[in-house]
Amino acid sequence: MIASTSHISIDGDRLLDRIDQLSRIGADPRGGVTREAWGDADVEARDLVARWMAAADLRPTVDPAANLVGRSPGHGDRWLATGSHLDTVVQAGPLDGTYGVLAALEVASSLHDAGHHMQHGLLVAAFANEEGARGTSGMTGSYACVGHTEEAPPDEVDDAGVTVGERILAAGGDPDRLREARWDPDAIDAFVELHIEQGPVLHANGTSIGVVSAITGRQALDLSITGVANHAGTTPMDLRHDALAAAADVVLAVESLPGPGSVRVATCGHLLVGPNVRNVVPGRVEMGIELRDEDPETLAAGTRRLIERIDAVAARRGVAMDRRLGQMVPPVTSDPRIVDAARAVCERTGTSWELLPSGAGHDAQVIGRMLAVGMIFVPSIGGISHSPRERTDAHHLVAGAEVLLRTLLELDEVLSATVPPSSVGDPGFR
Ligand SMILES: [Zn+2]
Repeated sequence: MIASTSHISIDGDRLLDRIDQLSRIGADPRGGVTREAWGDADVEARDLVARWMAAADLRPTVDPAANLVGRSPGHGDRWLATGSHLDTVVQAGPLDGTYGVLAALEVASSLHDAGHHMQHGLLVAAFANEEGARGTSGMTGSYACVGHTEEAPPDEVDDAGVTVGERILAAGGDPDRLREARWDPDAIDAFVELHIEQGPVLHANGTSIGVVSAITGRQALDLSITGVANHAGTTPMDLRHDALAAAADVVLAVESLPGPGSVRVATCGHLLVGPNVRNVVPGRVEMGIELRDEDPETLAAGTRRLIERIDAVAARRGVAMDRRLGQMVPPVTSDPRIVDAARAVCERTGTSWELLPSGAGHDAQVIGRMLAVGMIFVPSIGGISHSPRERTDAHHLVAGAEVLLRTLLELDEVLSATVPPSSVGDPGFR
């Protein structure tokens, strides 16, 4: 018999106050918040959230990856997990990541205040280094939680010449025991991450809640173009092998790649020109390209098509193109039970919602390699994020946390009814 939960509600003022308090930790004199992973401000924020977790009976621990993980047992031996990250990019806004952690904490606080224990235990995580501080790969904490530490290895060196392992150690983790940060997939039924959209769709449509259908996959492609550097005054146009002109063709080929039946977006965001001098025909260009889509086959087909176009440009312009496939982050489809639960909650509470893909990467994408995952978005005003101007209306922040609470309560019921009890009761570090 499952107890009624209609009297349980999140405390919106407490949530907004905590968001405000966190925005002061790492406040950047140039504007916004700079809380790079494992730095002093990041650890200070983590310690404050740990104290709030303890007050909500979440029993906080810092795992070997320096993730903050709080756990409150339920009546049964299975778990629901939620959370996001506290680290930020340089001069970030107050919400990216932080909102999802504090809303998850607010869910725990509300359940605690109401004296309600779910069938499932509640696990709240603040993942370490989601953003990739100082040029590192990012998602370090969530990779450790799914046991893929090779994707964000402790021997990686950051822009300051310090290894990720040293950073983890300084922040209270233990890089030699990263494997022990792995969660037990047999004990956790679902992971739900609440996040700001970081894009313009919900705000433009006037929708309160985004239910995420899938998190985009990303294929990186690096390209070195070698032409012939020569005198800009004496080299006739028909005898040139201009690497930058070839790069321009590639940029346009990238831009024209998306469309019906092809990838959703494609970008060339990095370009280095050599010798980069006005009176010399460019002889060399380095380019960084990425393609994103929610379907892995579309992503692979788009990558093949782009490579054909790149080779055609090379042949036409008589330049050499050295192309290297870079990191491929596979797309993750949301678990339909989580999508259904969030939709049902929005319908029941009269909250406007729409289904949309996530164009940005998130911890949920990494956790999705091991667990059923889903995401809930709230609108970003003007679609602005990774900026001091990142904002979401207060009533949307409160509504998002309420939807997270009700979605977890819904999943607690649905998944308690359908998932057989497991002999494994500890979601923790293995
Ligand atoms: Zn984020």
